[in-house]
Amino acid sequence: MKKILIANRGEIAIRIMKTAHKMGIKTVAVYSEVDRNSPHIRYANEAVYIGESPSNQSYLLGDKIIETALELGVDAIHPGYGFLSENASFSEKVTKNGIIFIGPNAHAIRVMGSKLAAKKAVKNYDIPMVPGIDKAVTDVKEATQIAIKMGFPILIKASAGGGGKGMRVVEDEGNVADQMERAISEAESSFGDGSVFIEKYISSPRHIEIQIMADTHGNIIHLFERECSIQRRHQKVLEEAPSIILTPALREKMGQAAILVAKSCDYVGAGTVEFLLDDQNNFYFLEMNTRLQVEHPVTEFITGLDLVSLQIKIAKGEILNIKQEDIKMKGHAIELRVYAEDPLNDFLPSVGFLETYKPPSGNGIRVDDGFEEGMDIPIYYDPMLSKLISYGSTRSEAIQRMLFAIDNYHIKGVKTTLPFGKFVCQHEAFITGNFNTHFVKNYYSSKLLEGKMKENAKLAALIALKLYIEDKAQLRVATITS
Ligand code: ADP
Repeated sequence: MKKILIANRGEIAIRIMKTAHKMGIKTVAVYSEVDRNSPHIRYANEAVYIGESPSNQSYLLGDKIIETALELGVDAIHPGYGFLSENASFSEKVTKNGIIFIGPNAHAIRVMGSKLAAKKAVKNYDIPMVPGIDKAVTDVKEATQIAIKMGFPILIKASAGGGGKGMRVVEDEGNVADQMERAISEAESSFGDGSVFIEKYISSPRHIEIQIMADTHGNIIHLFERECSIQRRHQKVLEEAPSIILTPALREKMGQAAILVAKSCDYVGAGTVEFLLDDQNNFYFLEMNTRLQVEHPVTEFITGLDLVSLQIKIAKGEILNIKQEDIKMKGHAIELRVYAEDPLNDFLPSVGFLETYKPPSGNGIRVDDGFEEGMDIPIYYDPMLSKLISYGSTRSEAIQRMLFAIDNYHIKGVKTTLPFGKFVCQHEAFITGNFNTHFVKNYYSSKLLEGKMKENAKLAALIALKLYIEDKAQLRVATITS
């Protein structure tokens, strides 16, 4: 493998290119109109313009991307996450054109891309599932009957769902019709597929996912868990590894269940099996993501492995050269997704001009980003600016380093989730590990954050004043003695 095209943009394109270059592989970037000056272009050995800014006229143009790859003599395509990464026919077309797709085959993507098909596939593998139905419902009466039998609250979910969309919690009988209508219309507009099904709503779950790696020779390993319970709108904001709640025995049990899920669809490459864990430590299979996850760096920190390098080696057909028993977990890592969103205004996107952009650096701090000072944040794509990752020998060291990194991350021009990250890392519930997916609902409000921010600003001003007075006193002493 000599040349890879990265069918993506921003931080993940750069992250993939870094490993490719380390492995002596050349890279090709693709870019849209608005990304003409983006850093991911400069990181690549070659860059090709593929179309207008909206993603359906650029980053989602599978045929055009394959054409470009063929013209430039590319050996493999890495799709990153989002865009074409979970598009089965893209994976199929890439392969048909004699190019390696760095990811699973079309069959696995197809099965796991549909939550209903995934449930069917894992049915014979003795994997605990969230209680629910395994077929789509369209009739409100039928849905209401199912819900009554299951017991409220229930969750209406889009089969093609992703990013927390098309999901509706229903507390009682009277709301089934209304919420079902909404879920169907959201699923249709977001995924072009209005199939919805019903699941029992697990009342206070934690989101725990297992990273797996499978080669083309039938070897599958797991790289432990990531806890992603800190979410807003059912979407992750802060992730960590390991989870404070897992015992070695439960970790192993969930790891083995994840391997079975991978087996159920003949999985190849890097994948993530998501579970919900209830307050009795029962876990339930939620879904599988058939790509590299946004939050993969926390796994890289605690295992010392480069996940992109493993993906590339697997795509080349190499045998996994690490055995399950050789993988050791060391230390603790936390990732904060730095979104251009306003945590004081319901996490609404806050795109605009990056007047100041100065990321932190230091021991145990990693920043994966794709922006620079003076750039506009485009409205066309996901508003994630960067990922801030901290690592420490213990969880509390990782938290301290995260707090240090947040304080030393200077962004002006847009609002970000940095203050929210600080709020979480200073919160008693997070520090003690006593939290679940309802952290935001239970402990967070913009008023509380505003109060904290004022408190912090006052503290910073007092420290500055103290330093000023001390400096002045020293100056005076120096003048007297000289
Ligand atoms: P998506 O594919 O849209 O990301 P997921 O099925 O992965 O949807 O779920 C996203 C989040 O929604 C979970 O992390 C959890 O917080 C919540 N969730 C999903 N299913 C349930 C459920 N049955 N009970 C309670 N919460 C759930």
